[in-house]
Amino acid sequence: MVSGIPGNSQRLKYHNIRSSLADGLCFYSHNQGITLKTPTEYIPGAARYPRILVYHEISRTFHLGINNVSPRDFHAHLDFLQKAQLSILPLRGFSERNPDNSIALTFDDGYDSFYDQVFPTLIERQIPATLFIITDFAGKRNSWDVTFGINRRDHLSWEQIQEIAASGISIGSHTSTHRHLTLLDAETAKLEIVDSKKMIEDQIGTEVTALALPYGSASTDIFIVARKAGYQEICGGVPGYYGPVGGILPRLPVYRGDNAKTLRRKLDWRVPEIARLKALQSCSQLTRLIQK
Ligand SMILES: [Zn+2]
Repeated sequence: MVSGIPGNSQRLKYHNIRSSLADGLCFYSHNQGITLKTPTEYIPGAARYPRILVYHEISRTFHLGINNVSPRDFHAHLDFLQKAQLSILPLRGFSERNPDNSIALTFDDGYDSFYDQVFPTLIERQIPATLFIITDFAGKRNSWDVTFGINRRDHLSWEQIQEIAASGISIGSHTSTHRHLTLLDAETAKLEIVDSKKMIEDQIGTEVTALALPYGSASTDIFIVARKAGYQEICGGVPGYYGPVGGILPRLPVYRGDNAKTLRRKLDWRVPEIARLKALQSCSQLTRLIQK
């Protein structure tokens, strides 16, 4: 328990704001906001892409790589989104509604820093979000993500995940072990998708409808398996890197060093920014291959 996070005695307060988290939040009036460019002005056909941001870790800890965003930058990003008067809506049903000037926020990997650095902020600002967790690593060290012996840290425990879920933040699956699903045999990939969903549902007592594919690694077969398992929102990565495949939702990663300017470029689907994201993801993949 951290300061500022209500415990069991204050759970009712969380339940009271659940409706606003579920319905989304439109910041302020519309006299000072920005208007996002129509995506088709930048990428042909991109208008069908919803604007979904994906963060990984928010912490002050040193992290080799680009996935770690400092709490200070994260707050600055939220300030920008609020000043821009963008509506932050829940992921569930977002792609169907996909209204102008709306975005969804997602957080991958379920590191325990989420509990201190993100959870209180989302509650305080009443921002809906989806947290994707790796079920076999709940409460454990991140052996799947250690790079050259660096970046060792812990994942959220089931107790913390239950508390976060009870507050109205959606919990989604990031599979059981965070492996490239397209590199696994069909049966193993299916188990990663199906078992993780059941595990979370058993733990939080709520249906899980969102899946984030590790590394955005996607195929039509994976999509079909996930749909049959009951997932509605199946999320990938940067469009054009591993997709978009079928109904897999592309997402825009936010990395260390991103600021209001680069966020704006992402949300506008500007070609140079999308190209930069693809290049960064390629570098990240290369690091992993060298590591193995
Ligand atoms: Zn991940």
